[in-house]
Amino acid sequence: MPEPALSKEVPVKSTPAAETPIERVKPEGPLTDLMHGDARWQIPVHQHGFIALVDVMPRLVPQGQSADAAIVQAARVSYGAGTKQVSEDRTLIRYLLRHRHTTPFEMVELKFHVAMPMFVARQWIRHRTANVNEYSARYSIVPDRFYRPTVDSVRKQSSVNRQGGEEPIDAGTAEQFLQLLDKAEANYREYLALTERGVARELARAALPVSVYTEWYWKCDLHNTLRFLSLRMESHAQQEIQDFAKAMYRLIQPLAPATCEAFMDYEFEAMHLSRLEIEAIRSGAPLASQNRREIAEFESKKSRLGL
Ligand SMILES: Cc1cc2nc3c(=O)[nH]c(=O)nc-3n(C[C@H](O)[C@H](O)[C@H](O)COP(=O)(O)OP(=O)(O)OC[C@H]3O[C@@H](n4cnc5c(N)ncnc54)[C@H](O)[C@@H]3O)c2cc1C
Repeated sequence: MPEPALSKEVPVKSTPAAETPIERVKPEGPLTDLMHGDARWQIPVHQHGFIALVDVMPRLVPQGQSADAAIVQAARVSYGAGTKQVSEDRTLIRYLLRHRHTTPFEMVELKFHVAMPMFVARQWIRHRTANVNEYSARYSIVPDRFYRPTVDSVRKQSSVNRQGGEEPIDAGTAEQFLQLLDKAEANYREYLALTERGVARELARAALPVSVYTEWYWKCDLHNTLRFLSLRMESHAQQEIQDFAKAMYRLIQPLAPATCEAFMDYEFEAMHLSRLEIEAIRSGAPLASQNRREIAEFESKKSRLGL
């Protein structure tokens, strides 16, 4: 008896990826530039500073949509196509933000050009998830720009918050402080003269005060930008960085309106209650803590809640 023929697999010749033609897929409908063809959207901050939005991803979106669409698009990879109405997009975004499903918000990227005093930059750079490229004071002369508060905005050291200042100080002391800033700024002339005489710029800058301005490009995804905003727009952050953060929020809001609305509702204007606080509210008993600061924080939350 003849042996049954062994089935032979016909080898399929696959095309190496390097040779596969690129498929170009056209959008379903017309696209619109979220920045309306502008090169930058800029807001001046203080006398010499600014924050400018220079790019956003996605920049081209289907007409009538915003960068929120990129968040929804990414989320639907996990939740399925589902519904596609704009109102339902908003519901989905609000759900994602409430439930801290954060990665879809990382699909939007924002690029800013910022000029700020060194002491603001020091606080800003702590937000490590951004990509930063800064002006080099080794390579170039530092421009002659210094941050100066006005006489009425020189703040008095707060007695409750060791890191902050709130009320304005008396005019005489404020004037004296501004004279001190004059002296610090006067170093600039010598800085310039000594660099001209050959002192390396990388060393000469050591004589400049932290009120001098620096500039950088700062690129960050929307999730981490919102995290930056929740920390730096907040009243405990230093006033000067708050001013930049609030300007940044104004630049972002028209790009991702549903996300910004949800951020305000569920994060920035929301309130976190500890287990002890929930227990104290439920039972009406004092907060089970001896910590004066924690008790004061609880009192302020209660007053916000009208309790
Ligand atoms: C009011 C206020 C006062 C402050 N006071 C001080 C102070 O006195 N001294 C001081 O030093 N700082 C201070 N800071 C800075 C603060 O401690 C944080 O460093 C800063 O706010 C950045 O926050 P972040 O780490 O959440 O941000 P990001 O660096 O953007 O981090 C975002 C998230 O990514 C994670 N992450 C980032 N990088 C890494 C990594 N390499 N590996 C693993 N996880 C990573 C973080 O853990 C975080 O969850 C202050 C901040 C504020 C708002």
